Amino acid sequence: MEKANIDWSGIGFGYLPTAKRFVSNYKNGAWDDGVLTEDDKVVISECAGVIQYAQTCFEGLKAYTTEDGHIVCFRPDLNAERMLDSAARLEMPQFPKDRFIQAVVDVVAANEAYVPPYGTGATLYIRPVMFATSPVIGVKPAAEYQFRIFTTPVGPYFKGGIKPLTIRISDFDRAAPHGTGHIKAGLNYAMSLYAIVDAHNQGFDENMYLDAATRTKVEETGGANFIFVTKDGKVVTPKSNSILPSITRRSIMYVAKNILGLEAEEREVYKDELKDMAECGLCGTAAVISPVGKIVDHGTEICLPSGMNDMGPVTKKLYDTLTGIQMGRIEAPEGWIKVIK
Ligand SMILES: *Cc1c(COP(=O)(O)O)cnc(C)c1O
Repeated sequence: MEKANIDWSGIGFGYLPTAKRFVSNYKNGAWDDGVLTEDDKVVISECAGVIQYAQTCFEGLKAYTTEDGHIVCFRPDLNAERMLDSAARLEMPQFPKDRFIQAVVDVVAANEAYVPPYGTGATLYIRPVMFATSPVIGVKPAAEYQFRIFTTPVGPYFKGGIKPLTIRISDFDRAAPHGTGHIKAGLNYAMSLYAIVDAHNQGFDENMYLDAATRTKVEETGGANFIFVTKDGKVVTPKSNSILPSITRRSIMYVAKNILGLEAEEREVYKDELKDMAECGLCGTAAVISPVGKIVDHGTEICLPSGMNDMGPVTKKLYDTLTGIQMGRIEAPEGWIKVIK
């Protein structure tokens, strides 16, 4: 298969339309069969539920070219399940799990020319999204929806590649207790844009959000979960009902415990503990594991001992093992890799 003419090693994290996308519409209480189409435009009512009341949720996963030349994706079953949860919380119809996985396979196979070759540092980002298409003006769920999966080749999420990031503790909250922080809803991102633009203007790469109720506990950033390594080598990730359950983070915790034999624990992490941590990383499909070198709390700098030049040693081990599994260099736990071709 001839690849598209793209400078794979030079691309950033942006949208580059590819050949095909999958589209299925929900009407009269049922999803249609869906099609692969070249049409990258969506035409809906000006009064559509997504436009008026932000009734939309999404997912994000990647397809990789492995060392031996296969195209695979990573744990799509968990993306399918998480989208069921997001849809239920937003009063949207659920797109069946088996159909979700099949659609991911079909759309990646149809865009084979855009799956970056092994060793380029780029991957094919896969974006499933669901939104309300029919008109609503009184506040209620819409009657009709579209489920769509498009893809785009991407490079690293953070421009510096894997140089440690500087983040700040935000004065804004990301998610309310008993709110929607645990689902992948566009609305969680709309209200974070002001905070991220402000962070960038102040010279920070990301915001660290605290729990909205007490502002004493670490939650996550706008689009990635935290992992920490304590000075005695334990991997710790914050536990909270308002954190988005990252598949990358759940996989890293499994890798830490079951492959690397480390102690790994999901528990509440207090802001006051940050100064005692040895390493810190952001994890997500887009971020993979991006090391954090410095956390700024209103003028007080917390410098992680791992420094501003490299990933900490434990973070590096987790990174190498996770990406090794995704790129087929390390044997994957049962069910983690879906082979597409
Ligand atoms: C998508 C997302 C993540 C990362 O989840 P992955 O499944 O690892 O990609 C983390 N936090 C938020 C808020 C997210 O939306």
